[in-house]
Amino acid sequence: MIIGLTGGIGSGKSAASRVFESLGIGCVDADVVARDVVARGTPALDAIAERFGDAIVTAEGQLNRALLRERIFTSPNDKAWLEALLHPLIREQMLTQLAQQPPPYSILVAPLLFENGLEALCDETVLIDVPESVQRQRVMQRDKTGEDQVQRIIDSQMSRADKQARATYCIENTGTREKLEAAVLALHRHFVAQSPQ
Ligand code: ADP
Repeated sequence: MIIGLTGGIGSGKSAASRVFESLGIGCVDADVVARDVVARGTPALDAIAERFGDAIVTAEGQLNRALLRERIFTSPNDKAWLEALLHPLIREQMLTQLAQQPPPYSILVAPLLFENGLEALCDETVLIDVPESVQRQRVMQRDKTGEDQVQRIIDSQMSRADKQARATYCIENTGTREKLEAAVLALHRHFVAQSPQ
């Protein structure tokens, strides 16, 4: 069984996934997988360099993400090409890693689970949910960034109401960390009870 765990920036996905991990549940982070498939020396990075030129790779052999973002921002063709290259690789890698986790279920953590259609890989989805004011306050404190920058990221993500409508389960994370832990534990027990065997 694969559970998708999502929520906007600063909602508490990492905090929630740490609780699941403490219960012995394997969590695969979609953002980490997306970085790994274009890590130094990968065939995907070679293909990107061939299309965009060697300047897209830094002297250290890493992908120059800022430059790539700029290139695809101005070229829908390049963007489509890149997505056709990376999306199947990312999905395959996520499924491989999820299958390697111990039973009875594993978790795919993805901030853009719904935006990127990744819920199709999941049996159920869990939304970690907080109002925008809490997102802003927690992210500003965590990342030492300004309100405008946080708000821009919030605005680029799917609205809270749309995510609430899509998710199977919703954990409200406006309370204490202990409340979050209790909510995760309750859901964990539910998933264990629901799983076959
Ligand atoms: P996300 O992974 O969704 O971006 P995080 O799990 O990093 O969010 O949480 C954002 C910030 O809020 C972190 O600094 C985290 O420690 C803090 N946080 C998360 N849940 C709570 C909570 N219930 N009470 C207080 N702080 C919290």
